Amino acid sequence: MSESFDLIELAAGVHGAVSDIAGPAVGNAAIIDTGDKTVVIDSFMTAQAAAELRNEAVRLTGRSAFLLVNTHWHGDHTWGNQVFDDIPIASTRRTLELIIADAPANLVAYEAELDAQLTALRVRLESDDASVRAAAARRVRGVEAYKAAAPGFRLTLPDLLFDDHLVIEGRRRVELMTYGGGHTESDVFAWIPDAGVMIAGDLCWNRIHPRTLDGDPGDWAGILERMARLAPMRVHPGHGEPGGPEVIEALVPYLRTVAGYVTAVRAGTDPAGLAPPPGSEAWASPERMRTGVAGLAARPHPSANRTASGWGRGGDAHLR
Ligand SMILES: [Zn+2]
Repeated sequence: MSESFDLIELAAGVHGAVSDIAGPAVGNAAIIDTGDKTVVIDSFMTAQAAAELRNEAVRLTGRSAFLLVNTHWHGDHTWGNQVFDDIPIASTRRTLELIIADAPANLVAYEAELDAQLTALRVRLESDDASVRAAAARRVRGVEAYKAAAPGFRLTLPDLLFDDHLVIEGRRRVELMTYGGGHTESDVFAWIPDAGVMIAGDLCWNRIHPRTLDGDPGDWAGILERMARLAPMRVHPGHGEPGGPEVIEALVPYLRTVAGYVTAVRAGTDPAGLAPPPGSEAWASPERMRTGVAGLAARPHPSANRTASGWGRGGDAHLR
């Protein structure tokens, strides 16, 4: 089994990889067996974790991966792409642009930044507070893995581009769909209708405060309402454990509250005093909610970084 993630069977032939957010993989991923093709969703933060994922895909399905999908541009879902450089990598056109825009321009500077993080974490390893020491120890393992991966990092871009819908026609049908941008400017999820399974990417976070800084919480809530209408039985999130439709249902009011917080902070409310939205009191990483609200409120126009290409323009593609 893998050191970086756990595998959970979501339905026959569909496995979700669940990662420790502080470990070498960071984001979740998934492996789908269509009966005649093997599809991998997302590639983690490091090549090491991605190689483990690719090996698990062969072990579980008995064949090599046919296609990798990047659900969105964030590095914890795309920086393992180089392990899949011999097969097609699918994403939306806008996600390709955003991966290029975010790529580390200078790997030496990136490694120096990781060294600074390790220095700060080593101070916390000496803390008198056992919970601070434990959190720092978990985090050190991840940052050391990112540092080990940095010298060998090779930017590997999606090369199978679509605007809003790509259907993989195997013995089982897999639909890659986007309803536009919410978590980022362009977010894809995979829908497997015969199994009722949705691989949601970072459109869903289960009992963890989601990153909202690169998206639009109000639009995101609307996207989740549309996803819920597909009536999934199993939802595999981008972070946290898989669950049922309640994973989607819990995030909709949360994101509407966050959107209201952004408006309030623009009007002068101090983000430090914001309470977790109702129902999220026990979720991990509450500071991410306040950082997101503060960052979104500081953006001159909530939609300033959107471009026309970030949104569906029609046109389905089929891959056989
Ligand atoms: Zn993300």
